[in-house]
Amino acid sequence: MNLATPIIITILLMLNVTAKSLEKVSIQLDWLHQFQFAGYYIAKEKGYFEDEGLDVNIKEFNFNINLLDDVLNSKSEYAIGKSSLIIDRLEGKEITLLSAIYQKSPMVLISLKNSNINTPNDLKNKKVMLTPDARSTASINSMIISQGLQLDDINFQPHTFKLDDLLNGTTDAMGCYISNEPYILSKKNIDFTIHNPSDYGFDFYGGLLFTSRNELNNNPLRAKGIYNATLKGWKYAFNNIEETSKLIFEKFNTQKKSLDSLIYEGYALKELAQFDKGLLGKIDTKRIEEIKRLYLLLGLNKNATNFKLDDLIYDVNKVALTKKEKDYLKNNAITLLTNSSFPPFTMTKGKKLTGIELDYWNIITKKLNIEEDINIIERSYKAVEKIKKNINYVKFAYSSNDYTKDTTVTKPITKVKVGLATLVDKAFVSDMSELDNKKIAISKYSTIYALFKNKYPNINYIEIENFEEGLKLISQKKVFGLIGKLPTLSYSITQKSLTNMKISGIFDEKFQMRLLLNNENKILESVLNKTISIIKNEDKNKIKNKYYSVIYQTTIDYTWLYKIVIPLLIIILIVIISNRKLNKEVKKRKIIENKLQKVANVDSLTNIFNRRKIESLYNRELIRVKRYQRELSIIFFDIDDFKLINDKQGHAIGDEVLIKLSTVVKNNIRTTDFFGRWGGEEFVIILPETSKIKATNVAHILKEKISATDFNIDREVTCSFGVSQFEETDSGDSLLTRADDAMYYVKRNGKNNVKVV
Ligand code: GH3
Ligand code: MG
Ligand code: MG
Repeated sequence: MNLATPIIITILLMLNVTAKSLEKVSIQLDWLHQFQFAGYYIAKEKGYFEDEGLDVNIKEFNFNINLLDDVLNSKSEYAIGKSSLIIDRLEGKEITLLSAIYQKSPMVLISLKNSNINTPNDLKNKKVMLTPDARSTASINSMIISQGLQLDDINFQPHTFKLDDLLNGTTDAMGCYISNEPYILSKKNIDFTIHNPSDYGFDFYGGLLFTSRNELNNNPLRAKGIYNATLKGWKYAFNNIEETSKLIFEKFNTQKKSLDSLIYEGYALKELAQFDKGLLGKIDTKRIEEIKRLYLLLGLNKNATNFKLDDLIYDVNKVALTKKEKDYLKNNAITLLTNSSFPPFTMTKGKKLTGIELDYWNIITKKLNIEEDINIIERSYKAVEKIKKNINYVKFAYSSNDYTKDTTVTKPITKVKVGLATLVDKAFVSDMSELDNKKIAISKYSTIYALFKNKYPNINYIEIENFEEGLKLISQKKVFGLIGKLPTLSYSITQKSLTNMKISGIFDEKFQMRLLLNNENKILESVLNKTISIIKNEDKNKIKNKYYSVIYQTTIDYTWLYKIVIPLLIIILIVIISNRKLNKEVKKRKIIENKLQKVANVDSLTNIFNRRKIESLYNRELIRVKRYQRELSIIFFDIDDFKLINDKQGHAIGDEVLIKLSTVVKNNIRTTDFFGRWGGEEFVIILPETSKIKATNVAHILKEKISATDFNIDREVTCSFGVSQFEETDSGDSLLTRADDAMYYVKRNGKNNVKVV
């Protein structure tokens, strides 16, 4: 055996995998990057798109794009939209909704508590900020109208997207996202009221993933891939909100949101997605009907064309057909030509025709919603002749020998292996050469025979009419074995309870089961291919289990040694050798990585944490204390009159002071505290498991130590300290802000002191 072969094959296989080209498609988002689109980022980052053969470009929103037009013109194949897509469909736009991430729309109206707007009714003669797009604010308008107000009763203002306009009274109520603005308002300790259309019975979908009918018809597999990968991504995102927020925080944070606000958004959206109710992505036709009726009621569609809901909602298990294809099916009957005695592919039970072929035909016709028209033709070549003459006939075919001029075949439906049946006392045959000069029975007319005669001319073939004859010859020891399709062999042996026989070989030769049809019928070819592509593996396995009952060899099979163990050992050896090299590389890389990490996390002058690192530690600690209700304090301090030091002694001496001061502080805090440079001559200490009393103590000690240190300049160096402790209402930067405020209080009141809030 040539040992190099398996290695080369393995390498080729690996190359094949990596070289597999991915289809490029894009998803256009309908807003800026935030948790709202988490599932899409996860699908990309975790390789779910790649698993579906897709390279997906996730495009952030900007005000110059038109989502719907882009999708209809294939500028973006997929996009996210609102329930108003239903109006677009009503107006004849050829779109399909794949999934609805939010079962309730995040859009709400928010007013401040002190404005005394307690119900939508109180909005009469008030100023309300909404986007002018009545379609996307239909849920809010419906809520207002349902409470007895006219839209004219309200003074609508264009949306500025500035929350400050609500705070300073420019407007009285503002259209907001329930997952965003409430977080900011609570952070600012501002009391507010949410007017949620959902509470008034207006449940609109949000975060709808949609595509064009064209895309769905021309690339049904791609649509299915997008559908599956994105739902998988969403499932992961909602099950791992913190990890996902971190990913967005680090990689998709164009809005510069805090980690904390992303996490808040994640939990709020998980609610809206009704994830825990198992509704992720689901679109209910009844609800679409309701929303449609509401839109009609509001008079939002000018040119309503009626549409079938079936066309609007994507069904992953339905074949996506073009109009031409549908018309073809409507006007033509497709007939399956099959014989009646080719078990287990076709066979007659009682008067009923059954078998693998019939089961697959049943699945295909059901999916296409067409009659299960079957014509029995016992001879295969006669069926092929008929197909050449009639473009609406099809038959199952198993090898290229079946394919002749004027016919074509579909994509493979399933694989059929070739096997060898012998008496039980025969050893397992792993290589065809072992059969040289042996008498092997084979069906005279079979496609396998046609193939094997050429490929393995040294076998002594005994032509038989049918399997029964072959099995008889084995029993009589007139032949060594019988070669045939594995399902046929195993089915015959088990059906006839031939306990003296077994399968002694399964060969590399595989036959693909396909449908054969007239070369001219391109429409039917496309219809069948689309249908075949959505047959579930689950259904395939069901059929397999129904008919296959393989009786395999039970004695020890040494061919494994050659086929698997030896190549494996060689691969292991290669891995070990290259690992050694790799280890050296890894060590080098580790050193570089460490250096890079240091650069990323450590301030180059003082060698303490930089602001980036301190911020990330702060966010981490915040999540921890919130979850486990622990104590956490912060000390913020700034050198007093540092400008004077710089001005009098020069910048270099100033630097020396910063370095020395850092060392003094480092030596006087616990190793569990985090000390970092906030910027310039401002510093932060994060003290986990520390009350503000203890933290104040630490600050006083530092104040004393610093002023007692000799900095080799003509003046004393002092600092002003602010101390704060985490409280339940703290979120985002509020804790830091309080410590900073306290520090400035000291600055204004004589410096060189400690203030605690
Ligand atoms: P206050 O007591 O109000 O804090 O007075 P101050 O002079 O310290 O206030 P201010 O914050 O205005 O001045 C800080 C100065 O620190 C200004 C800047 O030149 C200096 N500085 C910032 N970073 C560095 C640095 O890395 N090295 C040196 N030598 N000086 C720095
Ligand atoms: Mg200063
Ligand atoms: Mg300063």
